[in-house]
Amino acid sequence: MSDKPLNARERAYLQPAIVYGWEIEISPTRKTPLWQGDVLTPVKVGPLAEALVAKGYLEKVLPSEIYTWSIRATEKAKALQCRKCWGHSRLYNDEGQDIGRCPDCDNGVAVNPIGGEK
Ligand SMILES: [Zn+2]
Repeated sequence: MSDKPLNARERAYLQPAIVYGWEIEISPTRKTPLWQGDVLTPVKVGPLAEALVAKGYLEKVLPSEIYTWSIRATEKAKALQCRKCWGHSRLYNDEGQDIGRCPDCDNGVAVNPIGGEK
């Protein structure tokens, strides 16, 4: 499987897992999978999630509680957290002032991590 950079949809999908360390919680008693089991953050688990599992960016974690299982970012995915802004997606000067959007990432997920590290 070739390792080309992720597209915008894939980065957006992985963003909470990479930047916040969230996991997708899947329970048979609920219709919708949820980030962190929180009803405020539903997430669709379909072909996109399966593709990211197949590419090694997400992994399925077998049930910790009975019938409830989760999907989380792998080390490979965590390595995509932007090194320039450390996932904040904004840059700050020495006085702590916001000097704009980080050019290297999409909301903290590195856009082109290959060769982008210093
Ligand atoms: Zn960044």
